[in-house]
Amino acid sequence: MSKTLFEKIITREIPAAIVYEDDLVLAIRDINPQAPVHVLIFPKQAVPRVGEAKTADQPLLGHLLLKAAEVAKKLDLKNGYRLVINNGADGGETVPHLHCHILGGRYMAWPPG
Ligand code: AMP
Repeated sequence: MSKTLFEKIITREIPAAIVYEDDLVLAIRDINPQAPVHVLIFPKQAVPRVGEAKTADQPLLGHLLLKAAEVAKKLDLKNGYRLVINNGADGGETVPHLHCHILGGRYMAWPPG
């Protein structure tokens, strides 16, 4: 199967502004930011989307969320932030590699568009 965009970023075939990396996840600046701070954090293991995650992925998903919060803290989002996971076409997913958006630096309206 061909590599996802994020797998190519993990292997450095495509450049990205890396904010955080460990053995399990990578966090990068979004190329088309929707807020003053817009970071994507994703597992290095290519789970396509949260709707296809397996019970065995539970520790990885927990790690992803805990690290998202840690990255938000590192980026000084003291006033709050929003985590978004788009799932499937109606969810607005464009990259079929599970990722969590970390958005901050401005007030996030609700409901989302
Ligand atoms: P989603 O629509 O939830 O699948 O999110 C995919 C995100 O990837 C979008 O916010 C895009 O702006 C972002 N994106 C696409 N290509 C790149 C890239 N080369 N580097 C960083 N972010 C990207």
